[in-house]
Amino acid sequence: MMEVFKAVTCPVCACLCDDLEVTVDKGKIVDVKNGCAFSKSKLLNYNGKQRVLKPLIRKGNDFAEVSYDEAVKQAAKLLTEANYPLFYGWSMTSCEAIRVGIELAEEIGGVIDTTSTICHGPSTLGIQDVGLVSSTLGQVRHRADLIIYWGSNPLIAHPRHMERYTVFSKGRFQEKRKLVVVDVRETETAKKADLFIRIEPNKDFEVLQALRVLIRDDELDVEKVAGIPVATLEKLAEMMVECKFGALFFGSGLTMTEGKNRNVDAAISLIRDLNRITKFIIMPMRGHFNVTGADMVFTWQTGFPYAVDFSMGYPRYNPGETSAIDILLRQESDAALVVASDPVATLPRKAAEHLVKNPLIVVDPHMSATAKLADIVLPSTFVGIEAKGTAYRMDNVPLPLKKIVEPPTGILSDEDILSKILFEVRRLKENAS
Ligand code: SF4
Repeated sequence: MMEVFKAVTCPVCACLCDDLEVTVDKGKIVDVKNGCAFSKSKLLNYNGKQRVLKPLIRKGNDFAEVSYDEAVKQAAKLLTEANYPLFYGWSMTSCEAIRVGIELAEEIGGVIDTTSTICHGPSTLGIQDVGLVSSTLGQVRHRADLIIYWGSNPLIAHPRHMERYTVFSKGRFQEKRKLVVVDVRETETAKKADLFIRIEPNKDFEVLQALRVLIRDDELDVEKVAGIPVATLEKLAEMMVECKFGALFFGSGLTMTEGKNRNVDAAISLIRDLNRITKFIIMPMRGHFNVTGADMVFTWQTGFPYAVDFSMGYPRYNPGETSAIDILLRQESDAALVVASDPVATLPRKAAEHLVKNPLIVVDPHMSATAKLADIVLPSTFVGIEAKGTAYRMDNVPLPLKKIVEPPTGILSDEDILSKILFEVRRLKENAS
């Protein structure tokens, strides 16, 4: 029987568009309305050839199919035997599963980190340094008359961000907005801008500090900053000062270039200065659909948003020391559990090499590059399609993820798998004491 699910939240990027209409026929998704190409591609093809349908344990160069009980027992044994296991991923699963993952890391005394470590970790550090002037995306949609994308290309990376919240959206109090793009190259988003500022690579900090001078009506004693004529920066400063409500969205083009968290410090400080003159907010363009939720749950449970080390028996946080890449590059971890992430495809090669050298357990719905190199693969459901849960949008608003189809027979959710491993770890520890 055909069924249409309305107000479905898209489990792809951190825009978490919650207006999808998904048609299900005989347990299969056959149509998706309102979604972008990413959303349609995932929802219509998630159950593809790469799907893992049985728990797997490595036997030499091959995998052998086993029961969940056996895979869970082996996983728990490997993790309890390790001295310094790493728990990595978490940005593509539900808050409920992340909660259990943190409990597991604490029980074992390992270190737990999220994919923030390779994208918006510097944003978190910048926010911890100088605070954040922000709002919901709804406020931006209804009130903003100036939108700035800095080191971010939403037309490609967050395809409905502009349609739902900024220049192509119609707000209650504001319909027309000016668009400014600051980037090192003319992106698709830049082609739509009223003002595009091409910046020299790694010079964001200088430009942000120059803008802080210009919005105070002070003068710069140079002709160019980062290859940009001062007259152009004066034009941008004037647009910023004269708007009624401005919003600056920044991506990894700001967080991962030279300066990193200092760039974010400077951007937030600029926005703080602007709020003496007008209303302005700043927001990171988070990537994976629940990377913001991972920050949230980590912070509730440990006091810290990512890179949390439990090896001393209490949570410690020192990115650069306790973050996944640094631990892997120093070859300190001796086992890993990867959940809802593909670090072999995304981490630096040396870090990935150490990850796969030690016992590696992967919880994932499909055979990712990391799963192919794992010792144990525990297949899971797709959150937001086959399992419900909670995720946080990039503006820190929590939204429900729906279950719209049944998972393949016998496949468990991330939360259930992690709960089973935690139960088994506690049983092993009790027996040992
Ligand atoms: S913009 Fe992001 S959340 Fe919205 S439909 Fe596209 S992929 Fe999904």
